[in-house]
Amino acid sequence: MKKEIFLCAINNILSGTCLEDCKFCTQSVRYHADIERYNYKSIETIVEEAKQAKSYGALGYCLVTAGKGLDDKKVDFVARAAKAIKAEVENLNLIACNGTASSEQLRYLKEHGIDSYNHNLETSEAYYPSICTTHKWSERYETCQNAKSVGLQLCTGGIFGMGESAEDRTSLLNSIASLNPESTPLNFYHPNIALPIKSRNISRDEAVEIVKRARKLFGEEKLLMVAAGRELLFDGCEELMFDAGANAMVIGNYLTTVGDAPQKDKKMLEQLGYEIAISCHE
Ligand code: SF4
Repeated sequence: MKKEIFLCAINNILSGTCLEDCKFCTQSVRYHADIERYNYKSIETIVEEAKQAKSYGALGYCLVTAGKGLDDKKVDFVARAAKAIKAEVENLNLIACNGTASSEQLRYLKEHGIDSYNHNLETSEAYYPSICTTHKWSERYETCQNAKSVGLQLCTGGIFGMGESAEDRTSLLNSIASLNPESTPLNFYHPNIALPIKSRNISRDEAVEIVKRARKLFGEEKLLMVAAGRELLFDGCEELMFDAGANAMVIGNYLTTVGDAPQKDKKMLEQLGYEIAISCHE
């Protein structure tokens, strides 16, 4: 049987307006990165983009907002967007990625159609103060626990290659495992000239090793997604990441960087002999 690959698309529905100082993030207003910044997209646009993602084979659709966390306005907007998508697009797992969140806020999102919450731990607890000083790693961990406590699926992962040590990588993987998430995005740092972290300290071989370790640690049944930075590290060598244990990938654009065209990725998967998953296993 051919290996199934799950596709996930990201929609940045509120971009580039964050006051936090995460040194890897172009959406922080502090670093003046040359990105598109906008307020809420219209619900109609979000629904149309969801239909398009679905037509490319996406099973997961992630609604992302810039900023530290949810507030009343954001919760309401994401809930309305989720409800509108669910009414028009079938069989699309909806993921919200809106920063730190309380159990009440997450429960509200669930009631309005969100299936899963994405909140990445980003890096190890010990290294986190080197990449962000405006909020704590423990708040991130707590939000992940909140998502689970209200019955949402949890999607949590991190970014590798931000100057962290081998111990930090091990610690991050163990912390993710301790949350027992349904899916984990593995991102590989994409340097941007405006950001304080100027270069990436990860090679393709190290990335493959991380995918292998993650698969072993998280279990065979979980979704393991290679996300941002994939094109930089694996372009033309995607088989390596799937052989290592990845079974999901992001199609289309990332939050502020351009990804490969979905048609190109579909062709690549076909050529490698994989099947695009058509339903989420419960
Ligand atoms: S809180 Fe989120 S959006 Fe804001 S700078 Fe950090 S990673 Fe970027």
